Amino acid sequence: MGRRSGYPQGDRRGRLSAGAKREAGERGPATRAVEAGRREEWTWPVVNPPVWRGSTHLYRDSAELAKGRPNEDGQFYYGRRGSPTQWALSEALTELEPGAHGTLLYPSGVAAIAGALLGVLQAGDVLLMTDNAYEPSRAMADRLLAPMGISTRYFDPLDVDGFAAQFCDRTRAVLLEAPGSLTMELCDVPALAAVAHGREALVLIDNTWAGPLGFPAFRRGCDISIMALTKHVGGHSDLMMGSVSAADPALYDQLRVKAQLLGQVVSPDDAALALRGLRTMPLRLARSAQSALAVAQWLRGRDEVAHVLCPMLPGAPGHDLWARDFSGGCGLFSFVLRGRSPADRARLIDALELFGIGYSWGGFESLAIPFEPNRARSATSWPPPGWDAADRLGIRLAIGLEDPEDLVHDLARGFAAMERE
Ligand SMILES: *Cc1c(COP(=O)(O)O)cnc(C)c1O
Repeated sequence: MGRRSGYPQGDRRGRLSAGAKREAGERGPATRAVEAGRREEWTWPVVNPPVWRGSTHLYRDSAELAKGRPNEDGQFYYGRRGSPTQWALSEALTELEPGAHGTLLYPSGVAAIAGALLGVLQAGDVLLMTDNAYEPSRAMADRLLAPMGISTRYFDPLDVDGFAAQFCDRTRAVLLEAPGSLTMELCDVPALAAVAHGREALVLIDNTWAGPLGFPAFRRGCDISIMALTKHVGGHSDLMMGSVSAADPALYDQLRVKAQLLGQVVSPDDAALALRGLRTMPLRLARSAQSALAVAQWLRGRDEVAHVLCPMLPGAPGHDLWARDFSGGCGLFSFVLRGRSPADRARLIDALELFGIGYSWGGFESLAIPFEPNRARSATSWPPPGWDAADRLGIRLAIGLEDPEDLVHDLARGFAAMERE
């Protein structure tokens, strides 16, 4: 391989590296998703950055080798520090997240959560975690962090006073999720963040549900925003990836060094897939959110349904906070059957033809899964206080890009099957 003179080192438009923002702040989210991360020196003359597969990056001479800057974004060093394909994705995510300084990529959403927590916590620290966190986040706290001497306390996301009372001198970070996994409770992020900052704790949020287009995490008081790119950014159920963005440059550097120490890197092929998904994300999110709202409204009118847990739905739990703090949502929500048995619920789900039965979400296809939140709750109870105790069997729907009328028909078929023994 020869020495290339057109090596895309640095930024010939004179822009800064990580977190450098174009004058794109005024543009709409769809425009920003189209523009984001498309630096000419990474893409030109094609539209998308080529897939730079590479472990070794060659240097022209010893002097260039000596100048190697492993801790500067956008500089070749070695494959583990990425190439323009990964840098373009990182930069695109930074540009989409208002107030972000930089974004790190991880091979899954769970790896991103682990990267963020290990990036800010050390032995002796205490973490406060929302009780409705994604179940693997709880497993991480209990089985990875605890043996390392980092303890976790769980809090009721709807009880700001109870949250404040949980802090101790060693509380170093808080992990939020809004809305929470499965049960979809929406917490008051700015209020919880203000309490945490008063106690000098960092606020991390798993922002996978709304993403930066629907929930500008840094503008709502968070310090670190985590996303499973597997969901909306990938968008086609064929990719695993996660990201961590930070607003503060020093915090970003701290997270980057930890990610490097852990050897985290994503493949350029996957980064290219994620970039492809990113361009259509605003369209897909708008469409699936709109369809989800239509399906949620229809479910609310069904006798078989006791509760629709969809913060985007007027009158549903959390809707006021959603309307105040969010500018978008997505196709993911849950509902709870009135009474009924697990066998009834299984008949309903098994009769669905358009909804796949499976984990994950954010793809183009609709999914349905039954859920039992009890095993993943310790600070709250299920069913919540005030509900009829018989109304406890939940189903989570991920609404995809099908025609919503067809999805409603499919659910009606499910309800009919539930009546047949
Ligand atoms: C799916 C999911 C994750 C984890 O993402 P993976 O890429 O599957 O590891 C994290 N948080 C939430 C809220 C999720 O739904």
